[in-house]
This record gives sequence, C-alpha cells and structure tokens, in this order.
Amino acid sequence: MRTQFRTYYNRSGHRMPFNSTSEPQPNAAQASSGPLIHAQNVSRHYRLGDSIIPAVNDISLEIRTGEFVALLGSSGSGKSTFLNLLAGLDRPTSGAIHVRGRNLAAIDPMELARYRRDTVGMVFQSFNLLPRMTLEENVELPLRLAEVERAERAARVRSALDHVRLGARSRHRPAELSGGEQQRGAIARALVNRPTILFADEPTGNLDSVNGEQILQLLREIQSNLGMTIIMVTHERPLAERFATRIVTLGDGHLKSDTPNAAAELQPVIDETRR
Ligand code: ADP
Ligand code: MG
Repeated sequence: MRTQFRTYYNRSGHRMPFNSTSEPQPNAAQASSGPLIHAQNVSRHYRLGDSIIPAVNDISLEIRTGEFVALLGSSGSGKSTFLNLLAGLDRPTSGAIHVRGRNLAAIDPMELARYRRDTVGMVFQSFNLLPRMTLEENVELPLRLAEVERAERAARVRSALDHVRLGARSRHRPAELSGGEQQRGAIARALVNRPTILFADEPTGNLDSVNGEQILQLLREIQSNLGMTIIMVTHERPLAERFATRIVTLGDGHLKSDTPNAAAELQPVIDETRR
C-alpha cells in the first residue's frame, strides 16, 4: 500500500500533517449490495456538568445511494448532531454507523479523517468561503489539500463552477457575490473532491426564499445528474417536500417519522436573471 504525506485541516482550522495510505477498498459485496449508510441504535449524549443531554437517542436508519434525504425537526431536536455523526465530524456515544461496510463508530481517527476527506462533502448555513481568496481559489482548496496535480485541479474547478453556474464569477471574492452565489460557490467547493455523499446543514438558512429555492433546485439536480447522495438538514418543510425524495423527522433526539416523497420535482435550469 502506498504511503503519502498529506496535509489536513482539523475542525478548528489548524493544519494537521499526517501520513496517509491510499483508501482501503471496502468489501466489494458490502459496497454493492445493501444501504450506503446504515445507522443502528445510534445515540449521542452530551455531558453538561452533572446532567446528560440525549441529543440523539437510539436512531436507526438506512440510506441508499442516490437518495435526497431531508432531516426535519424543531430547533434542538438533534438534526445537526445526527448529521455530524453521519459525516464523521463526531462519534456516537453508542451504536454503529456503517458506511460501505466501515463502522464510523469504530475506525481510528486517521481513517475517520480519510472518510471525511474522500467520501464527504459538507455545506453549512454560513457559506464559510475564505474572504481573501477568489471563488476559484476557494473551490480549489480541497484539491490542494488532497495534492491533486495543478492541471487536473484547474479542470476540476472549472467543471465544479460550471455545475453551479458560476463560471463567469470565478475571479470574484466572496464579498463581491450575492448570498445565493456564495452558497453555490460553497456547493462547488464541496463537490470538487467528488464526494460520495453531500451533507448540508440548513443550506438555505441565510438566504431569501428565491435564493433558497434555487439552492434546493441545484441540490436536486446534483443528486439527479451526478447520482450523488444528499442528506440535508432544514426547517423549511415546504421546500423539503418539493425537492427531497425522502423526509425524515426528528423530535427530542428520536426518529419521529420517515416517509418517501414521490412528489419531489426535478426542475430545469436556474434562471440567471432571477438572482
Ligand atoms: P438541531 O440541529 O436540531 O437544532 P442540535 O443537534 O444542534 O439540534 O442539538 C440537539 C440538542 O443537543 C440540543 O438540546 C442542544 O442544546 C444540545 N447540544 C448540541 N451540541 C451540544 C454540545 N456540544 N454540548 C452540549 N449540548 C449540546
Ligand atoms: Mg442545527
């Protein structure tokens, strides 16, 4: 197995050099059959002084490749905590989360870091683009961290920006972009490493309704055209019901409902004049 020296940023944004070997191939049978993600009796309890907060409480859920899952629930119901567990940003207190045969609750920190780098794309409510960099430099950053070669980087950045229809804005800095454009840029950055799963935590939370709708349309297109699996936290039920293929509701850390949503619509291109 090839060993490479790579650089990684931890959750506080510090540069973390580490040795990494190329990704171990998951068991082929497990990878091709069964769900992409299988969460079994997952709990995450926070300790706060003497009290325990059961933020996620005994949730079991299977997610198949290509689904667009919306996680709904009131504030404090455990949506972000659960999303972060599935994205490998945090570990459960108990239970198992199998992704293509690997249990995120049991693998070592290096392997979990590789899972985040190679399998996961993340989009947040606050777009988190670096202000001093241009849009294309922001989108290129994950490729630099993964040590992708320069020519390949340029081609992938162009393709990612084209996917979100921001090719013409590549030299702009974040402050020169609208909120909707910044979020589309953040989606391009999340896509550029070709993740298997795109996670989004309230991606429309800082946007007006027109831009929020465009972001959901875009996510739906990405799911459909690129075959990507999308797991999105939102509190906007009407938007979720229009675009997500499955609606999962949490309440007090528990799974309250889980329903397929056949009504999800696939709409044509974003109208650039409506920004
Ligand atoms: P949601 O995203 O649905 O609003 P969260 O997952 O952020 O909910 O939070 C679920 C519960 O866990 C809340 O009661 C919240 O206060 C608590 N919580 C979240 N993060 C922490 C933490 N780091 N320490 C202690 N309690 C936390
Ligand atoms: Mg949240």
